[in-house]
Amino acid sequence: MILPSKERLLRGRAAVIACPREECRICLSACGFTAIRIESGRPYSDPDKCVGCGGCAAICPEGAIRLLRLTNGGAEITFPYEGELPELGDTVTVAPAAGGGPVPARVVWAAPKRPNAAFALVRAVIPETDDPASAEAQRFFQEGEH
Ligand code: SF4
Ligand code: SF4
Repeated sequence: MILPSKERLLRGRAAVIACPREECRICLSACGFTAIRIESGRPYSDPDKCVGCGGCAAICPEGAIRLLRLTNGGAEITFPYEGELPELGDTVTVAPAAGGGPVPARVVWAAPKRPNAAFALVRAVIPETDDPASAEAQRFFQEGEH
C-alpha cells in the first residue's frame, strides 16, 4: 500500500487502496476520474487524479479502500461500514493507514449503502491538539509515504 504525500493529503481527500484480490479490478471501472490503475499487479489510486469522491470505497467488495485527509495535527478517514450506521458525534475505532493498533475517532459524516454499492461509508476525525490521539493521527502518515 502506498500512501499519498502529506502535502497532497493536506490539500484534500485521496483514496488509499490495500487490495487483497488483484484479479477483481472492479474499482478501476468504478472510478469516473480514471484515477485508478494497476501498479506492480495491484490497483493504485493516483493522488494527482483522485478527487476523493469515495465511489471506489463504497463499491469495493473487500472493503479495501479508504479515503484519507490530513489537517494540521489531525487526520480524517472515510471508510466502508457494515451494519447500523453510527450517529454523528459517536466514537468509533479506526485502524491507522500505516499500521498499528486501532485509535478512537469521532464520526462527522455517514452515508447509507447505495443500491449498487457493497458498503455504507462513514467519515471520522482523529482530534487535533491536546489529545493523545493527535500523536496517533500523525502515525497515520509516518510510514509508506512517497
Ligand atoms: S475493488 Fe477492491 S478487491 Fe477489487 S480490485 Fe479494487 S481494491 Fe481490489
Ligand atoms: S475516490 Fe473517487 S476519484 Fe478517487 S479513486 Fe476513488 S472513485 Fe476515483
